[in-house]
Amino acid sequence: MPATHHSSAAPAESTTVVGRIPVLDVRPVVQGGRRPAKAVTGETFEVSATVFREGHDAVAANVVLRDPGGRPGPWTPMRELAPGTDRWGAEVTPDAPGLWSYTVEAWGDPVTTWRHHARIKIPAGMDTDLVLEEGARLREEAQRLTGRRVTHLALTHPHFDHVFGAAAFPDAEVYGAYGAVGTDALFAPGGHGREALRADAVAEGLDARRAAAAADALVPVRHEVRGECGLDLGGGRRVRLADVGPGHTGHDLAVLVPGAPAVVFCGDLVEESGEPQAGPDAVPARWPAALDRLLDLGGDDALYVPGHGAVVDAAFVRAQRDALAARFGVSR
Ligand SMILES: [Zn+2]
Repeated sequence: MPATHHSSAAPAESTTVVGRIPVLDVRPVVQGGRRPAKAVTGETFEVSATVFREGHDAVAANVVLRDPGGRPGPWTPMRELAPGTDRWGAEVTPDAPGLWSYTVEAWGDPVTTWRHHARIKIPAGMDTDLVLEEGARLREEAQRLTGRRVTHLALTHPHFDHVFGAAAFPDAEVYGAYGAVGTDALFAPGGHGREALRADAVAEGLDARRAAAAADALVPVRHEVRGECGLDLGGGRRVRLADVGPGHTGHDLAVLVPGAPAVVFCGDLVEESGEPQAGPDAVPARWPAALDRLLDLGGDDALYVPGHGAVVDAAFVRAQRDALAARFGVSR
């Protein structure tokens, strides 16, 4: 998946691979990697790098720390240290003496890119077929990365920026939480159905005729998830779908992909690139409890993929849970 690696081994020489997504000026490095950077055992330090790609496509980056035995630790997601600087960083902690090394990995982030484009292009009145084109591009990217066709889609919640692209996957099995993006709800007048999605898109600046066309292209949800269910994707890959809401909406579907690390797709229950958005269909009083269920699902070591922004860890989700509880006046 990573398009580019930068390895800064200590004390081995530092190597930089410049590809489609350059990773430059990785720190800490001492004398171009000829000498090791030093830290005390258990000391937390920041690994940073300049990460960017040509054009305006979004990127994401991780640090992978390797212990003296060469065993890779869990990924540590990096964040852009200040918006627009292309300077990314993450804190890591070697917990034993010896020669550790680290690798910075960066890749394109098509979902953030898609949202960024949708936000810019839709209010600018450009053709909304772009929304479907971006969906098709996501499909191609997923197939290129995995070498497999996309067979299943999980719609986390019924907001237009999370469901319109689904029409680009005509032969995928579509899953949604019961009552949220279920067929009935989607087509029912009022509520958060087709008409409401169209109206939301218009409220975001989309031209009325084009919003209607985009809403017409919506795909029905054939598989409604009530509570939790397991799903066999084939090839030994099983995932768990869980309605952990209400919170951001009446029913928020999360997806757990077991592994080391496990990965949890959070929908908009978690946002990294900004404050979580509570619209009229949010259930603020129950949102913190939904995040507790999300944390139960993934556990402490999982990677959490927010609805918007870069991948985060359990500590970030827990902090966002506490901030939401305070913001909405929900006691622990
Ligand atoms: Zn949303």
